[in-house]
Amino acid sequence: MTEGLEEARESESSSASSAVAQKHRTSMAVWNVPTPIEHGARFNPRIGVRCDDGCVLSGATVEVLDDAGKRAATGTLGPDPWGGTPDLYWAEVELRAPVDDGYHGWSAGFPQATVASFQHDQASQAFGLSTTKPPECTVTVGVTDGDTREPVDGAYVRLGLHSGYTDESGSVKVALPKDSYELVVWKTKHKMHRNTIVIAKDEDIRVELTGCKVCTGLA
Ligand SMILES: [Zn+2]
Repeated sequence: MTEGLEEARESESSSASSAVAQKHRTSMAVWNVPTPIEHGARFNPRIGVRCDDGCVLSGATVEVLDDAGKRAATGTLGPDPWGGTPDLYWAEVELRAPVDDGYHGWSAGFPQATVASFQHDQASQAFGLSTTKPPECTVTVGVTDGDTREPVDGAYVRLGLHSGYTDESGSVKVALPKDSYELVVWKTKHKMHRNTIVIAKDEDIRVELTGCKVCTGLA
């Protein structure tokens, strides 16, 4: 059972002296990152770390690095594992989104640390932030079935980075900044709808989906 683990350790620390105790391996998770996020908005991602040997990691430090590698926040792992997990210790950190449009590749890190009297290897986990201007318009997308003329409930509607699902009346409201967007609408057993629209004011858009018995929605 430990065979794979031994191998992985060996390849990572082949230059280390055999007299030095092997470090415990750690891994990380990042969640609660909104997407897209408005320029400059505050958000509170959760950073989790677990030790392969099941150590209690409470009190250890985690950090978040921005896309320039600059430390954007640090946090301290809390007293209890994340609900439903035996050993994922976590911290909530406060961050502020960049003020320019686009995709930002950030990462969370667990610096090499001694916790619970054991040396722990460093770990990191990348996460992405897609930033957007604050919304200026509300777009209502109404989806009907072109064959039955009935509203389509639960259709996935995406405008650029913004998305949602239609309600039982077949419509969904999406708030977004003025821009040009690719509109994609899909639902199983229908052909996917895709077109480009320019949004400069509040809009009401109607989309008719064509039935298709074999379409998964992605086809
Ligand atoms: Zn450990």
